[in-house]
Amino acid sequence: MSNWFKVALERIKESQGNYIHNQNLIKKEETLLCSNCFKDEGLKIDAYNIGIKNRDTCPNCKSKIGNKLTRSLVIELCYVFFVRGTIVRSKFGGSPLIQFNEQHYNKSEVKVSSWLIEDLELVEKAGKVGLFYYGPRLWMVGEVEPLNSLQKEEEKNTIIDRIMNSYPTKILLKKEYFYRLRKNPKLPHNIDEYDTAPKEFLGINRFDKVDFPVLYGSPDLELCLHECRTTVEDNLYIAKLVPKHTLKMLDLSVLIEENNTEFESLDIAIHFLFLAGDNSYNICRTIACAAKEKGFDGIIYPSYYSLIRTGAMPFETVYGISVRRLPHLKYHAQLQSVPNVAVFGRPIKEKLITVDCINKVVINRVSYELTFGPIVT
Ligand SMILES: [Zn+2]
Repeated sequence: MSNWFKVALERIKESQGNYIHNQNLIKKEETLLCSNCFKDEGLKIDAYNIGIKNRDTCPNCKSKIGNKLTRSLVIELCYVFFVRGTIVRSKFGGSPLIQFNEQHYNKSEVKVSSWLIEDLELVEKAGKVGLFYYGPRLWMVGEVEPLNSLQKEEEKNTIIDRIMNSYPTKILLKKEYFYRLRKNPKLPHNIDEYDTAPKEFLGINRFDKVDFPVLYGSPDLELCLHECRTTVEDNLYIAKLVPKHTLKMLDLSVLIEENNTEFESLDIAIHFLFLAGDNSYNICRTIACAAKEKGFDGIIYPSYYSLIRTGAMPFETVYGISVRRLPHLKYHAQLQSVPNVAVFGRPIKEKLITVDCINKVVINRVSYELTFGPIVT
């Protein structure tokens, strides 16, 4: 794993531990429920994973083997299951269908499946909270001015200038290598296989067009596997690519400081752009062409699979404010974006990058981290 990336991943692990909860404090709180109190299978599994493992008797269902929940853990469970579990993505952005707070205690308005009714009552009573249907602020579902302007021919150039002036340049040094994965290459030992895809395959990915070739890579191996949508049947090879000269990159993976609202935020616009699927590619291609004209060799950008890699909550907000804009959570938010590399042209052929080493990749085991949510009708 590349050095500049290893440091980032270590910090992600560290911040997740701190962010969730302070286990020692929670253990001092009184036990109210346990994972065996619930009927809904998903809620039961989430409660088991969140709860404290001990053989105490549950004050509610008298089980000894369920994992125990204090009020803080019930609230965490409520967030994981009912908020995170009901996030709906829109064209850009996304938001949960359900939220909860103490003000709605005893005034819950959410209708749930028959098997979840009693479980929900337990959660609300133990957490002293009530659930309600959440009406998102419009910026959360993509109503962000710079994003709208990027989609309008007459306005897009102003925003592109803003992007070029607001985001930093990162110089990739010769030691800052990254990986490129190939699925079923014809000649795995041939270094040309690891250069930018041939012309007939251009125009289908994030930044490339038929007349604008782009090489994609990542300093994170697991991310390469996600990005290439690999399966166990694929014959996989990975090349370690090393810049032959320093590369001048436009770094769109950083969180930028702004003094404006979420509706006007370039930071939110770029964040949403890279979490969106192929509906965002035309905008990304326009940005890439502009970056090349400005003399950049490529772009560093947050991976679409950042959230899968870090386990972070998508489009996270606190009281309707994006965590990207809260000073004490900015660092946490920055760590949720995992950087990818896009280099313009055919950098191996053009001798900007060399293939240092090629290996076969064997997938022995894949593990998933799951949480659940209710069915909302
Ligand atoms: Zn119980």
